[in-house]
Amino acid sequence: MFAVLAKPTIMVINVAQLLKEPVGSTRTVDVSGDEELDVQGHVELVRTDRSILVRGRLSTDVETTCSRCACPITCGVTFDVEEEFFPTIDVVSGMPLAVPEDDAFTIDEHHILDLHEAVRQYALLSLPIKRLCRFDCRGLCSACGRNLNEGACSCQSASGDPRWAGLEQLFSAAEVGRPGVNSTNAAQRKLKRR
Ligand SMILES: [Zn+2]
Ligand SMILES: [Zn+2]
Repeated sequence: MFAVLAKPTIMVINVAQLLKEPVGSTRTVDVSGDEELDVQGHVELVRTDRSILVRGRLSTDVETTCSRCACPITCGVTFDVEEEFFPTIDVVSGMPLAVPEDDAFTIDEHHILDLHEAVRQYALLSLPIKRLCRFDCRGLCSACGRNLNEGACSCQSASGDPRWAGLEQLFSAAEVGRPGVNSTNAAQRKLKRR
Protein backbone atom coordinates (compact mmCIF):
# COMPACT_ATOMS: atom_id res chain seq x y z
CA MET A 1 0.00 0.00 0.00
CA PHE A 2 3.06 2.26 0.22
CA ALA A 3 4.00 1.49 -3.36
CA VAL A 4 2.82 4.88 -4.62
CA LEU A 5 4.80 6.80 -2.02
CA ALA A 6 7.98 4.74 -2.19
CA LYS A 7 10.82 6.33 -4.06
CA PRO A 8 11.35 4.70 -7.43
CA THR A 9 13.87 1.90 -7.18
CA ILE A 10 16.43 1.38 -9.88
CA MET A 11 17.26 -2.16 -8.88
CA VAL A 12 14.38 -2.91 -11.25
CA ILE A 13 14.89 -1.33 -14.65
CA ASN A 14 12.56 -1.18 -17.64
CA VAL A 15 14.79 -1.87 -20.65
CA ALA A 16 12.10 -1.87 -23.37
CA GLN A 17 13.53 1.23 -25.03
CA LEU A 18 17.13 0.01 -24.85
CA LEU A 19 16.11 -3.34 -26.40
CA LYS A 20 14.75 -1.45 -29.42
CA GLU A 21 18.03 0.39 -29.92
CA PRO A 22 20.99 -0.80 -32.02
CA VAL A 23 23.68 -3.13 -30.65
CA GLY A 24 26.17 -1.11 -28.62
CA SER A 25 23.62 1.36 -27.23
CA THR A 26 24.16 2.05 -23.52
CA ARG A 27 22.54 3.45 -20.40
CA THR A 28 24.28 4.34 -17.17
CA VAL A 29 22.24 3.76 -14.05
CA ASP A 30 23.05 4.89 -10.53
CA VAL A 31 21.97 2.01 -8.36
CA SER A 32 20.60 2.75 -4.94
CA GLY A 33 19.08 0.08 -2.79
CA ASP A 34 15.49 -0.42 -1.77
CA GLU A 35 13.84 -1.87 1.31
CA GLU A 36 14.83 -5.35 0.12
CA LEU A 37 18.55 -4.79 -0.51
CA ASP A 38 20.80 -1.88 0.42
CA VAL A 39 23.11 -1.33 -2.55
CA GLN A 40 25.22 1.57 -3.77
CA GLY A 41 27.09 2.04 -7.03
CA HIS A 42 26.44 2.33 -10.69
CA VAL A 43 26.13 0.03 -13.66
CA GLU A 44 26.24 0.44 -17.38
CA LEU A 45 23.68 -1.41 -19.49
CA VAL A 46 24.85 -2.35 -22.97
CA ARG A 47 22.58 -3.64 -25.73
CA THR A 48 24.29 -6.68 -27.27
CA ASP A 49 23.08 -8.73 -30.22
CA ARG A 50 21.32 -11.14 -27.85
CA SER A 51 21.05 -9.55 -24.43
CA ILE A 52 21.55 -6.60 -22.13
CA LEU A 53 25.02 -6.72 -20.62
CA VAL A 54 25.14 -5.24 -17.11
CA ARG A 55 28.52 -4.20 -15.81
CA GLY A 56 29.67 -1.95 -13.04
CA ARG A 57 30.80 -1.81 -9.43
CA LEU A 58 28.43 -2.15 -6.51
CA SER A 59 28.66 -2.23 -2.73
CA THR A 60 26.34 -3.85 -0.26
CA ASP A 61 26.24 -5.37 3.23
CA VAL A 62 25.88 -9.12 3.72
CA GLU A 63 24.56 -10.66 6.93
CA THR A 64 26.87 -13.55 7.73
CA THR A 65 28.72 -15.16 10.64
CA CYS A 66 32.23 -14.90 12.07
CA SER A 67 34.48 -17.67 10.71
CA ARG A 68 35.92 -18.35 14.15
CA CYS A 69 33.17 -17.82 16.73
CA ALA A 70 30.07 -18.03 14.49
CA CYS A 71 28.46 -14.90 15.95
CA PRO A 72 26.34 -12.89 13.47
CA ILE A 73 28.20 -10.10 11.69
CA THR A 74 27.53 -7.67 8.86
CA CYS A 75 30.20 -7.75 6.18
CA GLY A 76 30.50 -4.87 3.72
CA VAL A 77 31.49 -6.02 0.22
CA THR A 78 32.30 -4.24 -3.03
CA PHE A 79 32.32 -6.20 -6.25
CA ASP A 80 32.40 -5.84 -10.02
CA VAL A 81 29.35 -7.10 -11.85
CA GLU A 82 29.45 -8.33 -15.42
CA GLU A 83 26.38 -10.29 -16.33
CA GLU A 84 24.15 -10.78 -19.36
CA PHE A 85 20.38 -10.58 -18.97
CA PHE A 86 18.44 -12.28 -21.75
CA PRO A 87 15.05 -11.10 -23.04
CA THR A 88 12.35 -13.78 -22.88
CA ILE A 89 10.16 -12.00 -25.41
CA ASP A 90 10.99 -10.06 -28.55
CA VAL A 91 10.39 -6.38 -27.82
CA VAL A 92 9.15 -5.67 -31.34
CA SER A 93 7.23 -8.78 -32.36
CA GLY A 94 6.12 -9.96 -28.91
CA MET A 95 7.23 -13.50 -29.81
CA PRO A 96 8.86 -15.64 -27.10
CA LEU A 97 12.64 -15.95 -27.27
CA ALA A 98 14.81 -18.91 -26.29
CA VAL A 99 17.23 -18.22 -23.44
CA PRO A 100 20.67 -19.71 -24.27
CA GLU A 101 21.50 -21.00 -20.77
CA ASP A 102 19.20 -22.55 -18.20
CA ASP A 103 20.58 -20.58 -15.28
CA ALA A 104 20.94 -17.29 -17.15
CA PHE A 105 19.42 -14.10 -15.80
CA THR A 106 16.39 -13.04 -17.79
CA ILE A 107 14.38 -9.95 -18.63
CA ASP A 108 10.69 -10.64 -18.03
CA GLU A 109 7.81 -10.35 -20.49
CA HIS A 110 7.28 -6.73 -19.45
CA HIS A 111 10.94 -5.95 -20.35
CA ILE A 112 11.86 -5.54 -16.69
CA LEU A 113 15.47 -6.27 -15.75
CA ASP A 114 15.63 -7.06 -12.02
CA LEU A 115 19.08 -6.77 -10.44
CA HIS A 116 18.20 -8.21 -7.01
CA GLU A 117 19.14 -11.85 -7.57
CA ALA A 118 22.34 -11.05 -9.44
CA VAL A 119 23.45 -8.63 -6.72
CA ARG A 120 22.73 -11.23 -4.03
CA GLN A 121 24.78 -13.87 -5.85
CA TYR A 122 27.70 -11.56 -6.55
CA ALA A 123 27.69 -10.29 -2.96
CA LEU A 124 27.84 -13.82 -1.54
CA LEU A 125 30.66 -14.78 -3.92
CA SER A 126 32.67 -11.72 -2.95
CA LEU A 127 32.59 -12.48 0.78
CA PRO A 128 36.10 -13.04 2.11
CA ILE A 129 36.83 -16.68 3.07
CA LYS A 130 37.94 -15.56 6.52
CA ARG A 131 35.35 -13.23 8.07
CA LEU A 132 36.02 -12.13 11.61
CA CYS A 133 33.82 -10.27 14.09
CA ARG A 134 37.05 -8.53 15.19
CA PHE A 135 40.61 -8.99 14.08
CA ASP A 136 41.64 -10.76 17.29
CA CYS A 137 38.55 -12.96 17.65
CA ARG A 138 39.53 -15.94 19.82
CA GLY A 139 36.93 -18.28 18.38
CA LEU A 140 35.33 -21.27 20.05
CA CYS A 141 37.10 -23.87 22.17
CA SER A 142 37.35 -27.01 20.04
CA ALA A 143 36.81 -29.16 23.12
CA CYS A 144 33.91 -27.54 25.00
CA GLY A 145 32.58 -25.06 22.43
CA ARG A 146 32.80 -22.06 24.72
CA ASN A 147 33.13 -18.67 23.00
CA LEU A 148 36.64 -17.73 24.11
CA ASN A 149 35.92 -14.01 23.53
CA GLU A 150 33.79 -14.27 26.68
CA GLY A 151 36.63 -15.74 28.73
CA ALA A 152 38.90 -18.77 28.88
CA CYS A 153 37.53 -22.22 29.63
CA SER A 154 39.23 -24.81 31.82
CA CYS A 155 40.22 -27.13 28.95
CA GLN A 156 41.99 -24.31 27.16
CA SER A 157 44.86 -24.01 29.63
CA ALA A 158 45.27 -27.78 29.99
CA SER A 159 45.66 -28.72 26.34
CA GLY A 160 46.98 -25.53 24.81
CA ASP A 161 45.70 -23.94 21.66
CA PRO A 162 44.75 -26.74 19.22
CA ARG A 163 45.71 -24.56 16.26
CA TRP A 164 49.37 -24.86 17.27
CA ALA A 165 49.30 -28.61 17.97
CA GLY A 166 50.92 -29.52 14.63
CA LEU A 167 53.72 -27.04 15.14
CA GLU A 168 54.33 -28.29 18.67
CA GLN A 169 54.68 -31.82 17.32
CA LEU A 170 57.23 -30.59 14.80
CA PHE A 171 59.22 -28.88 17.53
CA SER A 172 59.19 -31.89 19.83
CA ALA A 173 60.21 -34.20 16.96
CA ALA A 174 63.09 -31.86 16.16
CA GLU A 175 64.19 -31.79 19.79
CA VAL A 176 64.23 -35.57 20.07
CA GLY A 177 65.95 -35.93 16.74
CA ARG A 178 65.73 -38.92 14.44
CA PRO A 179 68.99 -39.57 12.64
CA GLY A 180 68.48 -40.84 9.10
CA VAL A 181 65.13 -39.13 8.59
CA ASN A 182 65.89 -36.31 6.23
CA SER A 183 62.81 -34.22 6.91
CA THR A 184 63.50 -34.21 10.63
CA ASN A 185 67.12 -33.28 10.03
CA ALA A 186 66.01 -30.48 7.79
CA ALA A 187 63.62 -29.26 10.46
CA GLN A 188 66.42 -29.44 13.01
CA ARG A 189 68.78 -27.44 10.83
CA LYS A 190 66.10 -24.82 10.30
CA LEU A 191 65.55 -24.57 14.03
CA LYS A 192 69.26 -24.29 14.76
CA ARG A 193 69.61 -21.38 12.37
CA ARG A 194 67.13 -19.33 14.39
ZN1 LIG B 1 34.32 -13.98 16.13
ZN1 LIG C 1 37.02 -25.53 26.41
